[in-house]
Amino acid sequence: MLFDTHAHLNVKQFAEDEFEVIKRANDQGVSKIAVVGFDHETIDKALALSETYPGIYPIIGWHPTEAGSYSDQVEEKLIQLIQTKNVVAMGEMGLDYHWMEDPKEIQIDAFRRQIRVAKQLDIPIVIHNRDSTEDVYQVLKEEHVEDIGGIMHSFNLTPEWQERFLDLGMHISYSGVVTFKNAHDVKESAKVVPLDKLLIETDSPYLAPQPNRGKRNEPAYVRFVAMEIARLKGIELDEVAQITSENANQLFKL
Ligand SMILES: [Zn+2]
Repeated sequence: MLFDTHAHLNVKQFAEDEFEVIKRANDQGVSKIAVVGFDHETIDKALALSETYPGIYPIIGWHPTEAGSYSDQVEEKLIQLIQTKNVVAMGEMGLDYHWMEDPKEIQIDAFRRQIRVAKQLDIPIVIHNRDSTEDVYQVLKEEHVEDIGGIMHSFNLTPEWQERFLDLGMHISYSGVVTFKNAHDVKESAKVVPLDKLLIETDSPYLAPQPNRGKRNEPAYVRFVAMEIARLKGIELDEVAQITSENANQLFKL
């Protein structure tokens, strides 16, 4: 079996055919999918999907591009849902200095507050990092993320950075980016990532792997991510499938 640890089946791109998309994933052996909500609408939809389909697990949090609207009210909603629903992780949270929708200080504040909530609720976190690696690292370190653990989602950095995040106790999740021809750093990182910290994801509908690059991505394609990692590491696809599923089950306490 395969476990897609990060998909957005809760966005409008899947509104017409979510059933077929989930069916195709299941037919390809992708029997578990974590659906990530990042604002009010997508959080509600992630929870609804998990109540409708077997094998769908919600992850909820407040995206860094939404940091300006993080509030006591949002925080209370997140706490209440995590305590009462089968939420497996908190996120995605982090920093995004590419879009820079809000100033760094605002983003860092929403990030720190969510980490503190996750620690209070003892739930792992899912990290979004775009052009903000140094600050993400500092915040995770200062907030002692090792107490709860978490996932560097769609990892796209060098082996040196990977080592630093591993030292903080983080898991490393690879997306379709690892299949891209020019993604040299990512391929080098995947070669050396320890198997017990490895996860795979699609980030659907974004980042479709080769040979589907540029199309709408969907969880069935997580197989291509697993195939490329198997090739890079010189191991069997089955082994990648098994170990990444076990890692996800363990981290998400399933
Ligand atoms: Zn995402």
